[in-house]
This record gives sequence, structure tokens and C-alpha cells, in this order.
Amino acid sequence: MYKVKVGKKILSANEEYAALNSQFLTEHKKLCLNMISSPGSGKTAILARTITELKGKIRIGVIEGDIQTEIDAERIRAAGAAAVQINTDGACHLSALQVNSALKKLPVEELDLIFIENVGNLVCPSTFELGETAKVAVLSVPEGDDKPAKYPAIFARAKALLINKVDLLEAVDFDIERAKADVMKLNRDIKIFPVSAKTGQGFGDWCNWLLELTGK
Ligand code: MG
Ligand code: ZN
Repeated sequence: MYKVKVGKKILSANEEYAALNSQFLTEHKKLCLNMISSPGSGKTAILARTITELKGKIRIGVIEGDIQTEIDAERIRAAGAAAVQINTDGACHLSALQVNSALKKLPVEELDLIFIENVGNLVCPSTFELGETAKVAVLSVPEGDDKPAKYPAIFARAKALLINKVDLLEAVDFDIERAKADVMKLNRDIKIFPVSAKTGQGFGDWCNWLLELTGK
């Protein structure tokens, strides 16, 4: 005789904490963007410039994920925003439980927008839900224009993509139209922002999008 299982899907511990985080953010009416990319694409530099450019308009807080060190949280604080550092001690992605405890350490009531800077890794963070409002991918020009085709998961799931270090386009073989076309094949609705966190190029459109998203 066969037994048929019915009833609700059993959630993993990560999914349960992700649901709690999502509920917390909804109740407090806060937006939360989970930033995912390879190491060295410039996530922290993008955040630092975003915080500076939106000073007085959007109050930003950051949850920093790294395997070790407090270096990135210190860079965010130097830019003038609240930051909580999580060290995963070897793990290659943030868990929803880690984000749950970090949210309790941020002055959430005083913020409009919370960024999570995930551990630098283009693969596995895209499948660990943290309860965020949306995912934002970052791809930097020196990494190569073939990355969306080779690592499609994050590009298929993200609401926005920043193509960073466009100031290096002349120096490397990166076909930005190819990269954009490959991303659009995976995700028709994604917003793509070519930027340079170094020169500030493209930050107007990106910051306007954040203003729109937060209703500011
Ligand atoms: Mg970083
Ligand atoms: Zn991982």
C-alpha cells in the first residue's frame, strides 16, 4: 500500500528564518536589498558611494557578510552609515539566521533602506533566501562578459544588475552589449546600471532607482 503525503511543505531552518525576516521587514515597512557578486567586484565601494550620494535623502544601513574581518563594516561606517558585520567563519554565503540577529543590532526604525552585502560568491548565495525584498547582482568588467551565461542563477533572480568598473572598459575585452543581452535572455525585467564606483559614472540612474523604490 502506498502512503500519500499531504499537508504543508516542511520548511528548512533557513526558509523559516527567511520568512521571519521578511515578516519583520514588512511590519516595519523597510526595504532590504541582498547584494550578490564575486569577490572583488566592488560591492562595498558601490555601497560607500551610494551612501555618500544619497546622504540626506535615504537613510541606509548595511549588514556586511564576510568570511573574516570587520574591514567592510568599517568602510561603510566611514561613509556615514550604520553597519553590522557578520563573519561566517568559512561559510561561503550568509544564512537567514545570521541576518535575523544582525537586523536586531541595526537601528531599523531610523532607516529607509537596508543593504545586505553577501559573502563574495557568484554561485551559492543566490539560492539561500534571506527574507530580503529583492536581490541585486554586481558584475565587474574585469571578470569577463561571459559570466551571466556561465553563472545564470543570480542574474535570473536579481531585480537589478550593476555592471561596475566601466571606467576599465577600454583596458579589457568586455563586450557590454553581449553581457546585457545574455542577462536579458535570463531575466526580461531586470534593471541594468552600468556604473563606476571609482568615478561615479552611472550613479545618477542607480540612485534615482533607489529613490523611486523607497518612495523618496
Ligand atoms: Mg565587500
Ligand atoms: Zn555557500
